[in-house]
Amino acid sequence: MTTQEQFEILKIINSDRITIDEFRLLLSTEVDNELLKKMASRSMELTRKRFGRAISLYIPLYYDNRCTNGCIYCGFNAKNNISRKKLSIAEITAEAQFIRSKGFKTILLVAGEHPESSNPDLLIPVIRKMHEIGFTCVSIEIAPLGEEEYRALVRDSHLDGLYIYQETYNREIYDKVHASGRKKDYDWRLMTAERGSRAGISKIGIGFLLGLNDFREDAAALAEHLNSLMKNNWKSEYSISFPRIRNAAGVNDSFRTVTDREFVQLACALRLLFPETGMSLSTREHPDFRDTVIPLAFTNISAGSSTAPGGYCNTGNDLQQFEVEDSRTPEQMTQVLKKIGFDPVWKDWQ
Ligand code: SF4
Repeated sequence: MTTQEQFEILKIINSDRITIDEFRLLLSTEVDNELLKKMASRSMELTRKRFGRAISLYIPLYYDNRCTNGCIYCGFNAKNNISRKKLSIAEITAEAQFIRSKGFKTILLVAGEHPESSNPDLLIPVIRKMHEIGFTCVSIEIAPLGEEEYRALVRDSHLDGLYIYQETYNREIYDKVHASGRKKDYDWRLMTAERGSRAGISKIGIGFLLGLNDFREDAAALAEHLNSLMKNNWKSEYSISFPRIRNAAGVNDSFRTVTDREFVQLACALRLLFPETGMSLSTREHPDFRDTVIPLAFTNISAGSSTAPGGYCNTGNDLQQFEVEDSRTPEQMTQVLKKIGFDPVWKDWQ
């Protein structure tokens, strides 16, 4: 990299606002360690300025691992011969009470894409039950629904949040990795966040899966997507996730590796582009790595997660979606956060 190019990147790092073209430059392979350190420092500064030292804790509750889709990167792939289970309302309630007893006030209901698990007739009483148990923020990460279905969930059960990841924004790769099922419909998925926002969902999380495509291409597409949502559907508040593919039943190792350094570069570049947007970090990442990167840009972290239906009240992981890397308990995680100078917050920080 020439001195002039280094100077250009330094100028971007120190700007108040950056463009998507400048964001692309921050993701360049030419960014050396010195520049990356400066990006990290600026990213931390922006994060503290907007979010202070609060880190919200959330936890997923998996209630159904049946799925009709054939995503080749996922343990719940319909073609995988794994144990399947849909929790009853009583079992969901028991899992939720266990989670609440650990202090969480934010919960994420997760299910494979199956018509029964995304039926509002099931979801409305379940979401109401979560509020009765004491959760102040209830979100879903399930099959995409239509606008009217989202509207019913907001109106009849006060759904707070929707998480919907495009996985990859590259249409060709998207088609290849979604071998079968409704999820093959790229556009239906892409428009989900917009439908949710129009239906009145106040918190919407979008993202992509690191390892399917060149992450730089997906990151730029995510940035365009988020800009468009914030401009046209401004009533909702958005957050970003970029989980890395993990080991799971039936998943081979043919996916692209995204290194820790690249992950850090991406997180910091996203913070510089979106200084006011929440960013989530899941238990897919290794404990040491999580402790190092949390201060850089993140605002929400999961803790004590199980990715199997019934995984909190029962032991055994034959039902799980993927292996978590960070298995520390919520209590251990709060101690870690305090040790590194953060205030664990059990409800959504807003
Ligand atoms: S990623 Fe989602 S839709 Fe795809 S197989 Fe897994 S659970 Fe089903």
